[in-house]
Amino acid sequence: MDELSQQEFRNYIGGEWVPCASGATAPNINPADTADVVGRFPLSDAVDGARAVDAAQAAFAAWRDTPISKRAAILFRAAQHLEDHADSVARELTREEGKSLALARDEVLRSAQTIRFYAVEGQSFTGETFVNDDPDMVVYSQREPLGVVTVISPWNFPISIPARKIAPALISGNTVVFKPSSDAPLSGYRLAEAFVQAGLPPGVLNLVIGPASKVGQAITAAPAVRAISFTGSTAAGEQIHRGAGLTTRTQMELGGKNPLIVLADADLERAVDLAVKGGFSLSGQACTGTSRLLVDRKVLPAFTDKLLARMKALTIGNGLDGNFDLGPLATRKQLDTVLSYVALGKQEATHLTGGDRLEGSGFDRGYYVTPALFTGVTQQMRIAREEIFGPVLALIAVDGYDEAIACANDTEYGLSAAIATTDARYAHRFARDIQAGTVKINRTTTGNLINAPFGGLKSSSTSTFRESGRVGLEFYTQIKTVYRAG
Ligand code: NAD
Repeated sequence: MDELSQQEFRNYIGGEWVPCASGATAPNINPADTADVVGRFPLSDAVDGARAVDAAQAAFAAWRDTPISKRAAILFRAAQHLEDHADSVARELTREEGKSLALARDEVLRSAQTIRFYAVEGQSFTGETFVNDDPDMVVYSQREPLGVVTVISPWNFPISIPARKIAPALISGNTVVFKPSSDAPLSGYRLAEAFVQAGLPPGVLNLVIGPASKVGQAITAAPAVRAISFTGSTAAGEQIHRGAGLTTRTQMELGGKNPLIVLADADLERAVDLAVKGGFSLSGQACTGTSRLLVDRKVLPAFTDKLLARMKALTIGNGLDGNFDLGPLATRKQLDTVLSYVALGKQEATHLTGGDRLEGSGFDRGYYVTPALFTGVTQQMRIAREEIFGPVLALIAVDGYDEAIACANDTEYGLSAAIATTDARYAHRFARDIQAGTVKINRTTTGNLINAPFGGLKSSSTSTFRESGRVGLEFYTQIKTVYRAG
């Protein structure tokens, strides 16, 4: 028990750190050691949600009218604050979520970089002028903020995902209600704290922490909420999207069932590397993580042997103790889901290795599962269709490029997809044929740039607006067209 374990964290509403209305809190559990409590966090309900929306609405007019250079200066200071505290924030992130310290540190620094990116890009995000027949008239469009924006984020990237939503919202002049996942709330709390330390005026950013069942409706269905940017599961995103009002914009970034195609001409060592890194980094808990390996039958035996050898060498452990390839799964629910899919896979397909809960010293109190591989998988099987979100890979044999593409696209999802090939023709065709928002050629399905658009197709996204990059600002602004004569 250290000081952090006993600390009671609060919401941040209307410029004050406040307990939730009920006063109830819940422990934040370290998934590598469930006896370790990483602070206690509010169990907010609809009362707190409504207060946060009201505070954001009250702060909107003044924030919209704040000069953009001042808004940008606050974002720059928030980014600096995160960088100055990168080591401690990364440690806490690892302790509450389980990923390795190196990955956590990268994530914190990436968040600072994202905030800076939007502080700059947001200052030059403009409308257009339009030629017309009247020499005395100027026609132009201007971009304006929307009002109150609700940001809801998952536990797997608990600081970088909310950073890429909150920064463009704020620089554009919106006010924000932010609900991080209760399964990793401390990182979101530190992000909010960075903006507060940077001098954000009261009510411009409001943090409300609590279970979706209690607080969700109040921060998504309220008429004052003009936009919802959500990242999480397809089921939750669909529910929120359907419940949003006519004048509430939604941006839903959801689940995936991402394929890596390995053609017969691929460099097999490299293809195996893509499978291992794409499938098992973050213990398979990345939305863009590889979960289906569509391998040409001609190279399937060689690919499988090499993959099994690489998997044997993977290390598993507590991210705070060293740079392990895999950490624990992030929650008890994640553990149960992954183990149930492993059991299902053993009935549906041929189990080659892994999928066991690790026991013994150092593992007993954590949610550790060994990386799993199934072969003989077909597209009809549930392990090939449903998002598992864990370290489980399914090998599916295909004959040639056309069958590989047909299999890859035979899914409700369309988040990310990769191909391993040395044939330039297939690389080009793949970019055109694949139904995915992120297309990788000889790269892992995971990973995306701060300055490039990001988002899925099909049920992986509402595909309304893209996140990330310059286009990420579009979601947070509305367009007016002005006709000005004489
Ligand atoms: P989740 O859907 O359970 O929860 C995500 C967030 O939404 C949490 O903060 C949760 O409390 C909140 N939430 C859930 N239902 C809600 C409701 N009805 N109203 C308001 N808030 C609600 O997802 P998770 O388990 O935290 O994260 C894993 C999922 O996120 C996976 O499906 C993964 O693919 C997806 N994900 C997608 C992306 C992407 O960019 N597409 C990135 C990361 C994770």
